[in-house]
Amino acid sequence: MTHHARPPDRPHPPAQARGCRDTPILKQRGQHEVFCGLTGIIWLHRKMQDAFFLVVGSRTCAHLLQSAAGVMIFAEPRFGTAILEEGDLAGLKDAQDELERVVVDLLTRRADIRQLFLVGSCPSEVIKLDLARAAERLSAKFAPKVRVLNYSGSGIETTFTEGEDACLAAMVPALPETDARQLLLVGALPDVVEDQALDLLKALGIGPVSVLPARHLESGLAVGPNTVFALTQPFLGGTHAALERRGARHLSAPFPFGEEGTTAWLQAVAREFGVDQAHFDAVTGAPRARARRAVAKAADALRGKSVFFFPDSQLEIPLARFLTRECGMQALEVGAPFIHKGLVGEELDLLAEGPTLAEGQDVELQLDRCRAARPDLTVCGLGLANPLEAEGLATKWAIELVFTPVHFYEQAGDLAGLFSRPLRRRNLLQLEAA
Ligand code: SF4
Repeated sequence: MTHHARPPDRPHPPAQARGCRDTPILKQRGQHEVFCGLTGIIWLHRKMQDAFFLVVGSRTCAHLLQSAAGVMIFAEPRFGTAILEEGDLAGLKDAQDELERVVVDLLTRRADIRQLFLVGSCPSEVIKLDLARAAERLSAKFAPKVRVLNYSGSGIETTFTEGEDACLAAMVPALPETDARQLLLVGALPDVVEDQALDLLKALGIGPVSVLPARHLESGLAVGPNTVFALTQPFLGGTHAALERRGARHLSAPFPFGEEGTTAWLQAVAREFGVDQAHFDAVTGAPRARARRAVAKAADALRGKSVFFFPDSQLEIPLARFLTRECGMQALEVGAPFIHKGLVGEELDLLAEGPTLAEGQDVELQLDRCRAARPDLTVCGLGLANPLEAEGLATKWAIELVFTPVHFYEQAGDLAGLFSRPLRRRNLLQLEAA
């Protein structure tokens, strides 16, 4: 039944006269419940097909990676852990030597590896193991065949999406320089979604287009003062800063979630590249209509329902915009680990005033607010979902949002579906219990 659906040709509600850009933000610092940045390796290793991620950490880190990745048995895995033993805590020099031995061994054995990331962890940070120096030395040793870089995926004061940001930011200074006028898409998308985006840009006549991260080291990816870049993920603050340091210019836009976000994102790029409006409408008309129909269908279960976001993925603000404006939900609280207005300012403009905006987390206080608000749906991390479900609240795990293709027109219906499924499931359970 789609009787609540907005017909495809009717425009979205107008941008609110007053969005949330200037809404005071509740800033909280306290215990927070999040996954660490190592998690990003799970999607990054699929994206960069000639890269290897070597976590320099403990057995805990190895277990986290294994459980986040599910049980995946590869003949030639592309991530692994160099385990720091307790003895390493005392002998820093030995740890450095041991790490270099492990890397030399790995790179000698695996001719397919062209990029190696040394990924820092809580243990390597605690003992202050200098991974930057190790990466530099190893890079010099294996250049030009292999590029060795380092970043931190440590869980101290980070969120799980920061791992991708740190990884991409680490790649930017190593990119060759170019003066070419080009568009750079920034963010790791599943290949099928990335291809859809590239097809749309091509149909609009926009190019040349490069993508960070590229699928292979030798993709010709370069950056310079005539590069304009568009982010596809809202958690890439460090990468944004690194690209600006290379002279590239950011195209500020809402993120390509849902029909409206995708259209606004494409429109910002099209404006920059001088695409005329009639051509833009001709190219986007059919996929827009398809996306609206798909969202309307999945959103039937969401209309009029309330949603509460705990800070977790940094996708919270764009998702609140999508759920309120395209799916008819009401946002009660939108918590985000960080609110970077240079990145999400346009999203805040679209989000109607009303919800509490919270940055950071004091988990107990926020749980109290959530219990008092009794939202129909709570978006949160794995650690909070089970207790909240036990208290009768329907939850959605934020981490699924980065493991599922959700960007651009063709995935808009699936994105709404991710939120309607837990509500439908709960309705069924209630019916059965009745
Ligand atoms: Fe745990 Fe830190 Fe290792 Fe992440 S990096 S798995 S938080 S010890």
